[in-house]
Amino acid sequence: MTLSFSQLSLSPSLERAVAEMGYENMTPIQAQAIPVVLQGRDVMGAAQTGTGKTAAFTLPLLQRMMKHDNTSTSPARHPVRALVLLPTRELADQVAEQVKLYAKYTNLRSTVVFGGMDMKPQTAELKKGVEVLVATPGRLLDHIEAKNCVLNQVEYVVLDEADRMLDIGFLPDLQRILSFLPKQRTTLLFSATFSPEIKRLANSYLQDPVTIEVARSNATASTVEQHFYRVDDDDKRNTLKQILRERGLKQAFVFVNSKLGCARLARSLEREGLNTTALHGDKSQDERLKALEAFKSGAVDLLVCTDVAARGLDIKDVPAVFNFDIPFNAEDYVHRIGRTGRAGASGLAVSFVSARDARLMGDLEKLLGKKLELEALELEADKRPAGHFNDGQRAWQQPDTAREAREIRESRGSRPEREARAPSSRPVRPPRAPADPLFDKPYEPSLAAEATPSWEAAQKPTSRLSPNIKTRKKVPALFKSAPVAPVTDNS
Ligand code: AMP
Repeated sequence: MTLSFSQLSLSPSLERAVAEMGYENMTPIQAQAIPVVLQGRDVMGAAQTGTGKTAAFTLPLLQRMMKHDNTSTSPARHPVRALVLLPTRELADQVAEQVKLYAKYTNLRSTVVFGGMDMKPQTAELKKGVEVLVATPGRLLDHIEAKNCVLNQVEYVVLDEADRMLDIGFLPDLQRILSFLPKQRTTLLFSATFSPEIKRLANSYLQDPVTIEVARSNATASTVEQHFYRVDDDDKRNTLKQILRERGLKQAFVFVNSKLGCARLARSLEREGLNTTALHGDKSQDERLKALEAFKSGAVDLLVCTDVAARGLDIKDVPAVFNFDIPFNAEDYVHRIGRTGRAGASGLAVSFVSARDARLMGDLEKLLGKKLELEALELEADKRPAGHFNDGQRAWQQPDTAREAREIRESRGSRPEREARAPSSRPVRPPRAPADPLFDKPYEPSLAAEATPSWEAAQKPTSRLSPNIKTRKKVPALFKSAPVAPVTDNS
């Protein structure tokens, strides 16, 4: 049964914000959690990312806080009443943005604090008074110690992505923070899985919680079409480009396992003319936010990232996720591919499996509870670079005679030989995933993403532009068959 937001009797200011975001019907987690939180009950929720979880806790909390809504400028009239804790800066930033949107037509204030940024502007915001404080645990403790915020009037606490917070080792910080809060409060805990550690945390801090589970834990979204291709390490970049082109993809996440690998891959794809940026833990907070912003706005087509970006980040309408490396931790696969097929849109998840990945694939099969079939993908020989790809080589440095192409193929071993080195199995194409009944809107690319991505742009060697001239979006790129895209410098 579909429930609409109008059935909730939310305050007109909240209803207006929801309508402005274009939502009419609640998602399953919202339909189950919102009425329970409105009653003041504690909640233990298992929900996949992309299910509308943020609104599921934000809307009822704002509704309950509406009795404190006031226009006073005095900080004392705006004490912290709701605390939302998240494991990473990016997630905190994203949730805070959503809180701001839902609270837009109220006088309830909100802010976000996370590490890696100057404390002063955060302190100034806190001193002005905020009803909703979104935070990562470490930075919140810094502010508590500096006496920048008082938490004795907190009525609601949300522990979001709680399993991740425990993985990162935030348990002692969480325990300390919770010790500063009034005992009488509503506590909501959301986690991808209900592991024994999560259950222990819930037993210690939640009172008679209502358990809400909208999807089997460790499930992958039914809207994501998943493929596992046998690919030699040396062929991964070309395979990536071929699939991007063949599928007509506009944007994609490309996940790798190491920070160094991430920086290297992004650099080499950028050199090959693909409009790419990198996101990993060695980048400064500012660089990370800028990289995300560039991807979100469509200014870059490929976001090469480590698992720092795998959890919960909500970037609308990303049509594909590539696992350039199979993740070391099988659960990260679920989070990575959760970046696509969000909110009912259809998505594609492609994983490159090399001979070394047999153990990781075994872990993944165990987690997902099914056999994963490996497929073979024929690389277009004439698109191959001359010899092994080295940084600095361009995609257009291709063999120009059939003989050269044959020599390269021979030097790399025959396809049957290479396939024999990879984990074996019959190539079977899994059926296309059915549409998700949760939502009825199909994937619609954003306007920015409508623009021709760099892998579809024409093959023409790029001239080295002056560093003073900014290319607006596209760089002439790679492939002979595609039309020539102009380089624009009018920004
Ligand atoms: P979340 O799981 O909170 O990260 O939300 C995933 C995405 O779903 C976000 O882009 C939300 O804006 C979107 N969303 C939230 N609620 C709804 C709804 N009722 N209908 C459609 N989309 C929604």
